[in-house]
Amino acid sequence: MTQVTSDLQAENPFAAQTIVSGTPVVGGLAYGPVIRPGGRPSFDGIDATEVPDDRREAEMERFTAAAAVVADRLADRASHSTGVAAEVLTATAGLARDRGWATAAGKSIKAGVPAPLAAIAATDQFVEMFTKLGGLMAERVTDLKDVRDRVVAELVGLAEPGIPNPDVPSILLADDLAPADTAGLDPQRVIGLGMRLGGPSSHTAIIARQLAIPCVVAATDLDRIPSGALGYIDGDRGTVGAEPDAETIAAAVTESREQAARIAAWRGPGRTSDGHAVAILANVADGVSARSGAKAQVEGVGLFRTELAFLDRAAEPTVDEQVQLYREVIDAFPGQKVVIRTLDAGSDKPLKFVTHLDEANPAMGVRGNRIVQTFPEVRTHQLDALAQAAAGAERATPWVMAPMIATVDEAREFASVTREHGLTPGVMIEVPSAAIMADAILAEVDFVSIGTNDLTQYTMAADRMSPELASLTDPWQPAVLALIQRVGEAGARQNKPVGVCGEAAADPLLACVLVGLGVTSLSSAPAAAAAVGLRLSGVSLAQCRAAAASAVAALSPAAAREAARAELGA
Ligand code: PEP
Ligand code: MG
Repeated sequence: MTQVTSDLQAENPFAAQTIVSGTPVVGGLAYGPVIRPGGRPSFDGIDATEVPDDRREAEMERFTAAAAVVADRLADRASHSTGVAAEVLTATAGLARDRGWATAAGKSIKAGVPAPLAAIAATDQFVEMFTKLGGLMAERVTDLKDVRDRVVAELVGLAEPGIPNPDVPSILLADDLAPADTAGLDPQRVIGLGMRLGGPSSHTAIIARQLAIPCVVAATDLDRIPSGALGYIDGDRGTVGAEPDAETIAAAVTESREQAARIAAWRGPGRTSDGHAVAILANVADGVSARSGAKAQVEGVGLFRTELAFLDRAAEPTVDEQVQLYREVIDAFPGQKVVIRTLDAGSDKPLKFVTHLDEANPAMGVRGNRIVQTFPEVRTHQLDALAQAAAGAERATPWVMAPMIATVDEAREFASVTREHGLTPGVMIEVPSAAIMADAILAEVDFVSIGTNDLTQYTMAADRMSPELASLTDPWQPAVLALIQRVGEAGARQNKPVGVCGEAAADPLLACVLVGLGVTSLSSAPAAAAAVGLRLSGVSLAQCRAAAASAVAALSPAAAREAARAELGA
């Protein structure tokens, strides 16, 4: 047997011949033959002969037609998908229709460059620009290259690149998947996913969660698992194995399916086995996601990321437009809690009307609530719109929170303007300084919500989008848990709500630990709600507290997970 990490030496429950470890992102166990995506098309050998003058227009039309075919195909798939998968496919189709990209390619074609090479050159230009911008924009590089490959394949008459559609339910292993490929997965055929790269908040992870496909990312040694082997994905332990003992794994898969059925049958509200209430809430981005989220077992919204609705806007949306958007979300949860975040612009979510494009280090720049320094009126307009959206006898007053708060003064200033608007103020805790100052910050506001994605990024000094740093950007890092503990204790002392609204709240085991650390609500992708609710319903508050104490005392994320499992049961 090839053992890759010492953590695994203690544990090989399925007697597998090879095991590699990564970061677990979607729970469950899947077993089947291992497949890998076909390679990306090779661009060697594309005819580079200059296109004669009189054929350049036709070449331009060929390019336009190929891009349109690719865009239409992706849009068609989007119309047959839902949720994040549909959003990703629509966004990728949008790239294939992007005017800037087409103009760049058109320039080369007019100069005599054949369409496939013009598409490649235009993509290179945009890749360089997006990579420089970093964060979410850099993540779009995979989408851009994916669109390029599809358009070039169309132009040179090759089959559309992508992942194979297996005849039997299979385990798909890859370095990383293009978002459009992940979004197009058929969960009946691809039953488990293992990625060598990718972090817990990568597209692959988010879509796998929506499709309920057990998934492990950042499995560095994945190449040790050969294609064609019988493999498994253990999305709870974060392992990928080859050639396990057939009988043992079959029994475990049956148990895992039964567990999936129990999850599907779980009904809220969230509480521990001894009745300690923990609100399970949804993260939403607009009216559509709010209405679909309301169908899940959630008790309201814990995070409405308002900036996501305006990513493509050149100018600030009017107050009236904003009122309509906020009302759609509030009205999707009548009488329930709705926590709305003011614009978290900048860094990985640049908004054209407030972002500074020339910042050397945007993650630490003028982002989130800090835009009040440069565009104070934008926040005022948003609070005006929120106050108007909340008006109406039957509407519960939304809670409004500011992102990227680092100091007590910032929290005090935000609380004061928010109260002036008749709204309930809170702040996000996602900068370590805010966690350290939690007591003083909580004294200023009515609630806090911990953004574990950024809190982990800033605590570990590791870019949350970096696939290479996924082991650092793990919210199970004991240093991150210690900061959450500090905030939880402050909340308990002041009897004020402490939520978590980062991806950590989607991990059922970690959710129990968070509750033990004093967290009072958990908000994440609605698709994760039932698994979290079921897990919590099976453990007592005392067990959660014991698990939290052991996890904080651990020296690594893997040890923290094991310690929590020991207290809470596998
Ligand atoms: C977070 O940082 O955990 C969070 C919820 O905010 P976002 O992911 O939008 O930065
Ligand atoms: Mg954040």
